[in-house]
Amino acid sequence: MRRMAPRQHSDLRPEPNPVAPEHPANAIEPDLPWLLNEIIQQSPVGIAVIDVDGLYRNVNAAYSNLYGYAESELIGRSFTMVFSPENRQRALQRHKAFLSGSNETSGELEVVCRDGSTKTIISNSVRVEATVGGSPMRLAYVVDITERKLAERKLESARAFTQSVLDGLSTQICVIDAHGIIVSVNRAWRAFNRANGGERFDLNEGADYLEVCRHFSLAGTPDIAASPEFVKGLKAVMAGDLASFEFEYPCHGLTEQRWFIVRMARLAASDPPRIVLSHYNITSVKRLQQDLAGRESLLADLAASIPGAMFRSVKPPGAEARFSFVSAGIEDLVGLTPQAIYARKHLAFDRILDEDRAEYYDTIRIATLLQSEWRHEFRVKGKDDAIKWLSAQAQARIGDDGSLTWTGIILDITARKKAEAALSASEARYRTLFETVPQGVVYHDKSLRITSANPTAQRILGLTLEQLEGRQSIDPRWKSIREDGSDFPGTEHPAMIAARTLKPVNDVVMGVAVPDRGFAWLRVNAIPLLEDGELQEVYATFEDITAQVLLTHELRAKATTDELTRLANRRTLFERLAIEYERVQRNPGLRCCLLAIDIDHFKRVNDARGHAAGDVVLKHVAQTMKQQTRRIDIAARIGGEEFIILLPDTTVENAQALAERIRASVANTPANSGGQQIAVTISIGLSAIHPEDRNDQAALERADLALYEAKHSGRNRVRLDPSLAGDSAQP
Ligand code: GH3
Ligand code: MG
Ligand code: MG
Repeated sequence: MRRMAPRQHSDLRPEPNPVAPEHPANAIEPDLPWLLNEIIQQSPVGIAVIDVDGLYRNVNAAYSNLYGYAESELIGRSFTMVFSPENRQRALQRHKAFLSGSNETSGELEVVCRDGSTKTIISNSVRVEATVGGSPMRLAYVVDITERKLAERKLESARAFTQSVLDGLSTQICVIDAHGIIVSVNRAWRAFNRANGGERFDLNEGADYLEVCRHFSLAGTPDIAASPEFVKGLKAVMAGDLASFEFEYPCHGLTEQRWFIVRMARLAASDPPRIVLSHYNITSVKRLQQDLAGRESLLADLAASIPGAMFRSVKPPGAEARFSFVSAGIEDLVGLTPQAIYARKHLAFDRILDEDRAEYYDTIRIATLLQSEWRHEFRVKGKDDAIKWLSAQAQARIGDDGSLTWTGIILDITARKKAEAALSASEARYRTLFETVPQGVVYHDKSLRITSANPTAQRILGLTLEQLEGRQSIDPRWKSIREDGSDFPGTEHPAMIAARTLKPVNDVVMGVAVPDRGFAWLRVNAIPLLEDGELQEVYATFEDITAQVLLTHELRAKATTDELTRLANRRTLFERLAIEYERVQRNPGLRCCLLAIDIDHFKRVNDARGHAAGDVVLKHVAQTMKQQTRRIDIAARIGGEEFIILLPDTTVENAQALAERIRASVANTPANSGGQQIAVTISIGLSAIHPEDRNDQAALERADLALYEAKHSGRNRVRLDPSLAGDSAQP
């Protein structure tokens, strides 16, 4: 604290202090005034000297600091400046009254500081009589108690808040200390105790909680304080071993039976330890439960009207379970009346089939252990000893006394079980069928990807299920052909069409390329499976008809071709000749030429080399003809060593050139029979179909005539039908 120069604050000194020299007897130490001044200035207590007009005559540092002013800002001004304006007049009146003899100046005051903040102070005043003629002055001591006040107020409001919260609760709450002494209670507790004879017994603050409990037991309630479980729990919470504990107890009031739950919890971070005990009145809930129990007879009637049977069994601790209730429906299920079961419950269990009994008890044991719902399906001997399937469903509850109560319902599910069995049998049959039918069966999903294929399908297609799964018919790895050998696009596959049209597709023959096997020929059906008109799946069934198709192809080939030379046969030639004749008839501009070919002196080959060598020559000549002709030309063997070549859309000139090439080629290339060269020649007669021909044979006859001409003019040559003379480019 700042030391003040005495001269500047002469007011505090009894100045000019004429007294001292005048009263030497009780003279005080000459330095005393200065010393006093020093003490005052350095005092932590705020001190002010205020004159009769209320003006500060002097203040110390503690005083001015308290208000936030400099000392010089106070001296000479009215002390009321530290009061709020509305209080100033009264403050001045009190001040004047004090100086004229009243004593009412001490006490707590609210003051206003320089910065506008308010403070609470305690002020004490002493009247100082003026030593020299003047008026008395007031010496005021002030202490700032703002902080303390604030804390007190906070504490008070916290207490009030807590208490108001507690009082607002309908739950009876008391707070006890570590010794079980009640330190605080709420309004509900007080009210409850008043209503329960609290006038005769102090049940509030200061009472021993356990004593309170005992008091209630005297009022006719079972003594919860005597309940070992309750006392153990409370002590554990009091000792801090247990954070909280809950206990339900009946509590007889003066007029009614009530039930309570007391919840006790140690207050966190409370020093000294405090335990809050909340007492919830659960009487209404209990009543409801009792009402429900009372309604069980009603339920029994209800139970009798619903299918199946309801039951309740109770197993008190250490005793056998017994049925406390079984509805009349049980008789339909096991052929025993509820009365019979009440009398001898084993009769009911005896109805369970021997082979189902162990599992029955196992499931109950498990449900009991897990405290879960029990659901079980089992068989019993029903009425007339017919086997029934029953489904039981029950919920276990452990009672306050440790008893185990099962409440549940049993239903007859025989019909459902039968349907399930039938379904699973049909599924098994279907599965077996799927696995063993000689048809391939392939399932496709909506996007036509294969989802399943039976073993036959896998065998026929030469692919495993893994390879098939996920494949689509448009998979490029799959090549398919039609019977005529043309491409079978994946988009036209029966499964695709069935999916598009939502209609079955039947008997489509297709050749599918199978690894290492060429084409497998299949007859395919595809069936769309719909649900509410929407495609779900497509299944394709198919049989392997490769052998059949190949045989047909073979037969068809046999019917149309010459077996020895593989050229077209006589029949095929005549069919094609008729077609070409028609075309020319319709379109006279078209030219279709005809070569009649005969091997020269073939008889000699047979005679000299044998029939087999003759066959070799026949094949050799046929081969030459094939090589020299186009795809649209038909080379046919129509007799032993006689051939016809049909040349559609061919000019006589071109036909003649071709005939010449064939003749020369045969003449120049001997056949090879077993290493022997056999040279032969051929003679060729050339004709063409005329639009004016009577029939398709006419051109053939003219070719024959030309051939005859070729033979007779020396063989190994080409001769034209004379009617073509104008067309030909004669060599
Ligand atoms: P040409 O030059 O006058 O035609 O004399 P050629 O010996 O060919 O006379 P021809 O047409 O009378 O003889 C046909 C012979 O062809 C008769 C028969 O022995 C023989 N022949 C017919 N069919 C076959 C056959 O399938 N195989 C063999 N090796 N010979 C056949
Ligand atoms: Mg002949
Ligand atoms: Mg001949």
